[in-house]
Amino acid sequence: MNTYELDIHTHTIASGHGSHATITDMAKAAAAKGLRLLGISDHGPATAGGGKPSYFRGLPQTPKKRLGIEMLYGAEANIMDNNGTLDLDDSILKHLDYTIASLHPAVKPPGTKAENTKAYIAAVKNPYVQIIGHCDDSRYPVDYHALITAAMQYHAVFEINAASLRPDGYRGDTRQNNLTIVHLCKHYHYPFLLSSDSHGTAQIGDFSVITELLQLADISKELILNSDYSLLKKFLNSTFLLC
Ligand SMILES: [Zn+2]
Ligand SMILES: [Zn+2]
Repeated sequence: MNTYELDIHTHTIASGHGSHATITDMAKAAAAKGLRLLGISDHGPATAGGGKPSYFRGLPQTPKKRLGIEMLYGAEANIMDNNGTLDLDDSILKHLDYTIASLHPAVKPPGTKAENTKAYIAAVKNPYVQIIGHCDDSRYPVDYHALITAAMQYHAVFEINAASLRPDGYRGDTRQNNLTIVHLCKHYHYPFLLSSDSHGTAQIGDFSVITELLQLADISKELILNSDYSLLKKFLNSTFLLC
């Protein structure tokens, strides 16, 4: 049985690279791993081969339960500029269960620390953005103090991204950045999310590379939204009340 109940940063074939898995394949893998809830968050249209707006428009009509797993349907939207413009319109995002906003080099090359921070803060001001995607990326230096202040104000959370921390991670040395993030969340007693960022089924719900960091920072389970399905639901629902 998995220690955690959910994973909501995962990619299907609709993300266009590195995965041939359908939503049903993903649900099957999540069930096998003992998860209770799975979120699908394919790349927005600015990513080469990413989901088209029509794909995201169709998600709200997709079954909310598959193979006994509760399903959430979101997006990993691209932050396009320092004003936090996303590659999916609010008219689409408002019908999704959640949005992760991320910076990707192929879409928006890294700027200065001030520029990257501005871009992330502008994105979290969007009421449909609840999750700050892999801002541990060492190619995009960020002022984490400024960002957590904005995140708390605008009701978004950091994710600790397992794909960044895996030995084959391609975001540079992210360990120290992730430690900074979890220490800040602990300091403010502000929750965060663990994400597999699994492209396909293989890494769904696998947060093993994060365990050491959580132990080192002595993080209690109530700060981790994956610990309890109701914690995440409460967080997402209260976000929508703010919209
Ligand atoms: Zn990403
Ligand atoms: Zn991703």
